Amino acid sequence: MTFRDLPSVEKLSTQLSELTHELAVAVARQAIDEAREQLRAGEVVGDLLARARELATAMGRSQLRRAINATGVLLHTNLGRATLAPSAVAAVAAVASGHATLEVDEDTGGRGSRQTLIAQLFRDLTGAEDAVVVNNNAAATVLALAAIACGKDVILSRGELVEIGGHFRLPEVIVQSGARLVEVGTTNRTRIADFEKAISENTGMLLRCHPSNFRMVGFTESAALEELVALAKQTNIPFGDDIGSGALVDFSPFGLTDEPQVQKSVAAGADLVWFSGDKLLGGPQAGILLGRKDLIALCKQHPLMRALRPDKLTLAALEATLRLYQTGRAWDEIPTLRRIRRDDAEIARRCRVLARKLQKLGYDATVEATFSQVGGGSLPDRRLPSHAVVIRAENLPALARKLRQATTPVYGRIEKDRLLLDLRAVDKDEEETLLHAFPPAQRVLDGGQGGGA
Ligand SMILES: *Cc1c(COP(=O)(O)O)cnc(C)c1O
Repeated sequence: MTFRDLPSVEKLSTQLSELTHELAVAVARQAIDEAREQLRAGEVVGDLLARARELATAMGRSQLRRAINATGVLLHTNLGRATLAPSAVAAVAAVASGHATLEVDEDTGGRGSRQTLIAQLFRDLTGAEDAVVVNNNAAATVLALAAIACGKDVILSRGELVEIGGHFRLPEVIVQSGARLVEVGTTNRTRIADFEKAISENTGMLLRCHPSNFRMVGFTESAALEELVALAKQTNIPFGDDIGSGALVDFSPFGLTDEPQVQKSVAAGADLVWFSGDKLLGGPQAGILLGRKDLIALCKQHPLMRALRPDKLTLAALEATLRLYQTGRAWDEIPTLRRIRRDDAEIARRCRVLARKLQKLGYDATVEATFSQVGGGSLPDRRLPSHAVVIRAENLPALARKLRQATTPVYGRIEKDRLLLDLRAVDKDEEETLLHAFPPAQRVLDGGQGGGA
């Protein structure tokens, strides 16, 4: 094809009768522009009509779409952390496609609270007096501090001045809430006596924050939960506990020994406990605050509540997830829990099958033992033994890009110039789709010139 052979935008667009006029013109113009560029660069120009149709499909496709997480990081923040259980997905679909009983009272038909039901579930599951749900755990922190300690001192150990991923820096959040940060102890050692000494007329809260994503070893000490609770009772100052992940079950049998369990904080007597909904709890993005009824009431009444409250989709997903805990089905049905418990031997078996299929497509694919991580701001050295399909290819970045651009994108992890596909976070019903993302190996080696349209 030469420049002279390029069709006019009008001519090409009229051949796209299945599209609206505006879209047909837009993609025809883009396809012709691309072809002109290719001619200038001395490249071969492909079928313009096919290219225009491909562009139209890409435009109609949502940019936020389902992806396959073969990174081995179970709660990958960039890939949306926890995935929902089937019953939670169904609950979301039901209230998304119709009206919902969000703020109605079944008995009176009058206005009810969108939070009553969830609060009851959290009371049953954790023993807390009351609960309230907000947008995420960062919001829970801001709300708790603003509602309870605004204009007052918040005492926090220097060992817990944490930064969680994505610019959540606790000292800055405290300032934003209108409270004043009072640091006590040292980086590595803080005792309950340090808290005692810092207490004054103006103290609004004793705060503890779980150092989710790092750990100190060696000459370290921190005030025990029980000591903080006792000091709070004795001085009548609320004790707030940001536990991060919101584990409702015990994960220590899987080597995850640093994760505070919600029920333990409540039972120990923390006045207010808060955590994420989409980390180890395995639900939707949310922040949950629970504890003393009077303190939860202050949070609910605060003007920020309206800005931080969750929508009906979140509440539907959270309620369905909590019901799985309530009915003893959490380990079987909540994907995050199933993946943590997933047997390494089963993962290895599935990897071998997938490797054979990839070999048939021409890939150099083998299977190796590796480790998965929980992720989502938890400790990187808390690892779960796992297996991965290991792909060696000359054009590895091109292959990884192709996989990211697939209809259902696949995310693996590159390690020592090899692409690893850890199947711990990949469910069985995703394997077929994962395989489909792989073009025949030869096409990748050719630099992706095969068209593929
Ligand atoms: C993850 C985490 C947060 C932030 O939670 P989001 O739900 O991401 O807002 C806050 N504090 C701790 C201790 C955490 O682990």
